[in-house]
Amino acid sequence: MTKTEPLLRVTNLKKYFPIKGGVFGRRVGDVKAVNDVSFEVYDKEVLGIVGESGCGKSTTGKALLRLIEPTEGSVYFQGEDITAKSPEEMRKMRRDMQIIFQDPYASLNPRHTVEKILGEPLLVHGVGSKAERRKKVEEILEIVGLPKEHASRYPHQFSGGQRQRIGIARALIVRPKLIVCDEPVSALDVSIQSQILNLMEDLQEDFGLTYIFIAHDLSVVKHISHRIGVMYLGKMVELSSNEDLYSEPLHPYTQSLLSAVPEPDPDMQKDRIVLEGDVPSPSDPPDGCAFHNRCPSCMEICKTVIPEFREVRKDHFTACHLYNEEQPVN
Ligand code: SF4
Repeated sequence: MTKTEPLLRVTNLKKYFPIKGGVFGRRVGDVKAVNDVSFEVYDKEVLGIVGESGCGKSTTGKALLRLIEPTEGSVYFQGEDITAKSPEEMRKMRRDMQIIFQDPYASLNPRHTVEKILGEPLLVHGVGSKAERRKKVEEILEIVGLPKEHASRYPHQFSGGQRQRIGIARALIVRPKLIVCDEPVSALDVSIQSQILNLMEDLQEDFGLTYIFIAHDLSVVKHISHRIGVMYLGKMVELSSNEDLYSEPLHPYTQSLLSAVPEPDPDMQKDRIVLEGDVPSPSDPPDGCAFHNRCPSCMEICKTVIPEFREVRKDHFTACHLYNEEQPVN
């Protein structure tokens, strides 16, 4: 991973979904699924994004690819603002920006053979003749660990793990630079998860890929990520290197998430931080810090002032008033 110009820069990204109500179906509010999120991803880096269900991590992944249109904010890919691109320009850029979905079965057309599913992205981007596309399909199947003879089969003829291998092959076949991996192992049996994670890790190294790896489970992203961002109620609350996040989590929410990760060494057991209360609704987030109604360290200022997301230690960002006096030391 080289820290030069970022491959991707997300600035003040917002995605609000309107809530309609009343007799006339007027807009009466918004679900603030992604609420002012900024981060950068560097070439050949794996950025993990974690948080509980409904925190906005998957919506962030889809909005930055414009699979759903952002409400506000900018997304720069290789220095170009993709939010300003026409649909035709965006279609061309998608060759470099792919996605792997959580549920491989739902994302693969059950009526198409694997050859058609994997050949489609090549056809869309005008790559090769029919024979060349067939060859590329066979090659990519072998790369993801499936026999090339399986090209004539249909999705239902594969296991869950094999289907996710096809989902990975579909993203990889156009040789993208960036892949958003949206909970790619969450729907799989635990025994299969590590096989798919190992495959994704090998492919990232072999092909020099950049991943945004979205998961609700910190133990999944730990294995594969160089840096990790933690989201809560539509906001990024902490972002740091993998090592710093696990050894020195700053935000109380990250500390509680980490305390719930099982520790294999019985001598290293830690005290579990159990959070009080429920996650508030993203349509009506609390004033001040969105975490204040559950935070064991809540102070008066937290109830009224939104903490700024800023670098408080070197390359370690958080949004928490506990660190208002801290500055990064180079
Ligand atoms: Fe807790 Fe306050 Fe920090 Fe929010 S800003 S996480 S309420 S200490």
